[in-house]
Amino acid sequence: MRIIDVCEVTKPIASPIRNAYIDFSKMTTSLVAVVTDVMHNGRRIVGYGFNSNGRYGQGGLIRERFRDRILEAKPECLMNEDGTNLDPHRIWAAMMTNEKPGGHGERSVAVGTIDMAVWDAVAKIADKPLFRLLAEMKDREADPRVFVYAAGGYYYPGKDNSALRAEMRGYLDRGYNVVKMKIGGAPLDDDRARIESVLDEIGSDAQLAVDANGRFDLETAIAYAKMLREYPLFWYEEIGDPLDYALQAAISEFYDAPMATGENLFSHQDARNLLRYGGMRADRDYLQFDCALSYGLVEYLRTLDILRQFGWSPSRCIPHGGHQMSLNIAAGLGLGGNESYPDLFQPYGGFPDGVRVEEGHIVMPDIPGIGFEGKADLIKLMQELAE
Ligand code: MG
Repeated sequence: MRIIDVCEVTKPIASPIRNAYIDFSKMTTSLVAVVTDVMHNGRRIVGYGFNSNGRYGQGGLIRERFRDRILEAKPECLMNEDGTNLDPHRIWAAMMTNEKPGGHGERSVAVGTIDMAVWDAVAKIADKPLFRLLAEMKDREADPRVFVYAAGGYYYPGKDNSALRAEMRGYLDRGYNVVKMKIGGAPLDDDRARIESVLDEIGSDAQLAVDANGRFDLETAIAYAKMLREYPLFWYEEIGDPLDYALQAAISEFYDAPMATGENLFSHQDARNLLRYGGMRADRDYLQFDCALSYGLVEYLRTLDILRQFGWSPSRCIPHGGHQMSLNIAAGLGLGGNESYPDLFQPYGGFPDGVRVEEGHIVMPDIPGIGFEGKADLIKLMQELAE
């Protein structure tokens, strides 16, 4: 059993939206295929992955470093003990040969993208949905019913509060009961009016989370905390710079309700620093580490170990990114749910065809691998790359 190729293509996922920090008009993603020599029912097993959204495609790093390290490794060094499947941990170690610690930069995105494709291949070789494989691996019961929330509420040229309300109403009509909107891309009083109009629209049908995308300095973060605490919000997300743990800790003095952060922390060491120094509260706050941006599931398993050491339940994790990889981790390892972008980042994000949101939850279908074969528009793009 061996990996015979690792293919990458950089694809646009552009849209004319913006949050408090960036616009997405030039956003790209890497699509990766891990091609094996394993055949099932006359078909070659190929694992697929992509790098979530919000960082750019990583074709340079993948082609110049990580692909070659996999292809140059002895095939037996990339397999599990009994030789029945690929071993994602050993493949990860091969990719990270001659990489210094720290300074994670964007190599974590390149490795996370390949790692997603490796797990897809591993679950396909085992002929099981990844979430069931993960549950078995950790000796636990899979729960195919996963909480999802609708992330939107971006700033968009010409978008007024009635358009924002209509957007949120649309998510409720599609079965969501938690919705999220951006803040920090307009003056505080404008954001207050946006929040009030959304709360007025959703009433008691849903809860609202707000996301500042790391924009605020301490003074602005406190001003917003004082404004936001007047409203019954689901969470206050990514308040200041992702690496400013002291700022995060300071805000807990001004804001009792749940906060969320972590989508721009790309290693278990950074996650540990957040828990050590960020003042995050295990009884109410949420952690949003996205494996596709942060060295993949091999690393995410280390992050979950750190959480346990610090007294956090995996159910406090609701990853960023809206991809099926995190849905599998949620269903298999008991995370609290997953982000979802109902109208954005297609065809990469979202669910297999036919999966509907009901009362804020989806049910994972039993498709071998991550489930990409169940999403017609996505698997078509993937197969163009490698099959
Ligand atoms: Mg966010």
